[in-house]
Amino acid sequence: MDKTQLKKRVLKSLNENQKTLIEVCDKLWRTPELAMQESGTSRILRDWLDREGFHVETGISDMRNAFLAEFAQGSNAPVIAFLTDLDAVPGVSNKVVPRRKPIVEGGPGHGCGHPQINAGNVGAAIAVKNEMERMGLDGTIRVYGAGAEELLIAKVFMARDGLFDDCDVILTSHPTSMNAANSNTCCALLSTEFTFFGQSCLTAKNPEAGRSALDAAQLAAIAVSMRKSYMARGTVVEYVIPDGGSQPNTVPDVSKVWFMVRHQNESWVKDAYQKILNAVKGAAIATGTTSKENFLTFCYGYLPNERLGRLIYNNAKIVGPPTFTDDEKRFANEIRKNYGLEEIAEPIHEGLEFLKDGLDMYAQDGGDASRIAPLASVNCAFPKDITVHGWGTTAISGSSIGQKGMMFCAKTLAATAADILTKPEVLVEIKKEFNFRTNDRKYECLVPQDIKPISEDFMKYHVKTRW
Ligand SMILES: [Zn+2]
Repeated sequence: MDKTQLKKRVLKSLNENQKTLIEVCDKLWRTPELAMQESGTSRILRDWLDREGFHVETGISDMRNAFLAEFAQGSNAPVIAFLTDLDAVPGVSNKVVPRRKPIVEGGPGHGCGHPQINAGNVGAAIAVKNEMERMGLDGTIRVYGAGAEELLIAKVFMARDGLFDDCDVILTSHPTSMNAANSNTCCALLSTEFTFFGQSCLTAKNPEAGRSALDAAQLAAIAVSMRKSYMARGTVVEYVIPDGGSQPNTVPDVSKVWFMVRHQNESWVKDAYQKILNAVKGAAIATGTTSKENFLTFCYGYLPNERLGRLIYNNAKIVGPPTFTDDEKRFANEIRKNYGLEEIAEPIHEGLEFLKDGLDMYAQDGGDASRIAPLASVNCAFPKDITVHGWGTTAISGSSIGQKGMMFCAKTLAATAADILTKPEVLVEIKKEFNFRTNDRKYECLVPQDIKPISEDFMKYHVKTRW
């Protein structure tokens, strides 16, 4: 069979199956689940992959909802990985309307557009697998069911367990403010939480017995803030105090402070982490409390791969970015208005960009995977200037704007996979760049070996303490 037909066939298959992808996207949108609690989301995707003939394994890397789905044929090479991001964002539940209107007051919502990623990436993997099977082409198509992306967890632990070691390329997508092929780098990030334990008392009765855990948490946060001036330029340190006690006249005997540190270079993140450890130690001494650390994660920034990014870009050009109706533009402008932004003629990007070698200030748990095999992504445009992790993004994710973006990403990634499967010389070039950029440095996970992924209770606790 003529190998060159693969791309045409996967694109045709995605056109024919558009309804299924949109249905799955919609179902996922109606199932927003927080980090590590993504059992429904995981099941929807696993059932779909299982029905389409993938071998599915669940409970990967000590995470109940994480899964690997695989189809392999012939020599099994090349191995093409598609990523997913299973979790939703706390507190951003919203109907598909252009104003703040929660479905569940205070409930989670898809304010990061993950249904687009999951339905699009998995839909692409299925389309490629089915045509590859019909044409008898060699290769492996694998889907990584990875949760807790908002907390940068699952893919780091999968990488630590060697699950990306045999990948040839890793493909993914994400909604942002523009349609683009993306091989930018982003920040490394460390996330760690400290619980302080003190002594409670009623201050009106015996204040001398009190040792405030809240004082310790505040002191640690202030000390870290003071040290910020003496951290490498570009270091970002943020914190929250998720548990600050019950009422002012009762000394809190338990309190938590949760830090995240970002920098392009992971060694500067390590430097900031040492300063945090010292601040926590000092705060405990000063307040007569003790502390316990819950180390959550530490991931690398993306290692760019311009050649893979350009391949995605060329395919995105073939697919063509979505165009939007007047109604969709009105919907986008209405959301903008409700965020205090003015109406504009092009509220949703309809062009196409190639982002390469720039620095994005966010972090991604796929950063670790990009150190093991070449990784690049395609972005689809959500309306401009709308806060990600807000109600507006939830509304867009459930709308036809989000569905169009999802189809654009699915087709672009499927066409890219078709090139990888049928043009070995392209993969050689991509790998050459990867080897040049890694300089043969072997990947070492930044999370210590004895740290396990956060449990399901982590988000339950954090949501409970907020309301
Ligand atoms: Zn996300």
